[in-house]
Amino acid sequence: MAVVVQKYGGSSVADIDKLGQVADQVVAARAAGHDVVVVVSAMGKTTDNLLELARRAASVGEASETEPAKRELDMLVSTGERVSMSLLSIAIQARGHDAVSFTGSQSGIITNDRHFDARIIEVKPHRIEDELARGRIVIVAGYQGMSYKREITTLGRGGSDTTAVALAAALGAERCEIYSDVDGVYSADPRVVSDARHLPALDYETMQEMAEVGAKVLNAQAVEWARRNQVTIVARRTGDRSATARESLVSGAGGQALAVVSLERIAALQSSAGELGNVLEVTRALGLPLCDVVAGTELWAWWSVVNVPGWGEARGKLARALGTGSTVHDGLGAVSLVGVEAGTRPDRVQGLLEAAGGARRALFVHPLRATVLLESAAVVPCAQRLHARVIGGEA
Ligand code: ASP
Ligand code: MG
Repeated sequence: MAVVVQKYGGSSVADIDKLGQVADQVVAARAAGHDVVVVVSAMGKTTDNLLELARRAASVGEASETEPAKRELDMLVSTGERVSMSLLSIAIQARGHDAVSFTGSQSGIITNDRHFDARIIEVKPHRIEDELARGRIVIVAGYQGMSYKREITTLGRGGSDTTAVALAAALGAERCEIYSDVDGVYSADPRVVSDARHLPALDYETMQEMAEVGAKVLNAQAVEWARRNQVTIVARRTGDRSATARESLVSGAGGQALAVVSLERIAALQSSAGELGNVLEVTRALGLPLCDVVAGTELWAWWSVVNVPGWGEARGKLARALGTGSTVHDGLGAVSLVGVEAGTRPDRVQGLLEAAGGARRALFVHPLRATVLLESAAVVPCAQRLHARVIGGEA
């Protein structure tokens, strides 16, 4: 039987009613004759709430700047997916089907030893294969694995996508279905740009670049994993079985998509070009994910801080290591144009510059992406102007 891997995001399992709808959809896939593996995220805002508890547990008095240890954060946040996996298994069993839930480590997801932002290095899904052979539906806790040192690790925010794609590849599934509250990928975040266009097909490179600079619909590591293993990702809305239901396919054959991606809060550094060696060294030592660096007369670099729980502490170290000529900016965001020729067609870069206007602090241009840094408050209007100028409304 063909294996189908389905992943359900946090909003799709936010409460018991929604979880029940997911159980119905899973049972339908099983009834259609597939071997079904389901990867789940934590319910609703669980991960954020757990991180907030950790932050409170770590603050002793007012002046405290301690960041919780990433190992303990992994022990904590990995519980979120254990709750949703077991509840979904119970809901499926209640519908008369045989199901079993597994944690990441039980599923054979082996990672490196980098806590809170680990990378999968190997997948050994023997237990999953055995249970599928017994006719069971297998539910897997997303976002987590076990390091080769047998420690529990997590895969970075949105990492359940990565779990799903890695399992699809290891189990020989051709497609990985990612279900959430949106019906696929758009030319901008529809909450930011109301007339964003639905993108029915994208290539891996564009989608990965979009995810790396802030598109939340799919995780960048997941897309990278899909590209390396030629797994097609299908992004759909949970429970949408109407004839007009839309989906986005991310594959090697994708279309020439162009999209606007924005991040309202990033960490940026402004310094002198002579600090380049230092900046790279500190970035490496702190394990910060560098998005761009340019060193002309001035040096600018920026990092996405989504997977840096201890940014406050890292920020202090960065400032101390670089000395007085450098400024670490906290109040900046980034707006990017992503896609084929995003940075090689002058009219597109011009569109970005015009959209940013006087708010622009720095510009980075790559073949697949052009990015401006600007004050956080200017991010949304810039993204809207850029979309109107370069992409236009729904056709
Ligand atoms: N629950 C985790 C998060 O909120 C992982 C995921 O949703 O994929 O980031
Ligand atoms: Mg989540």
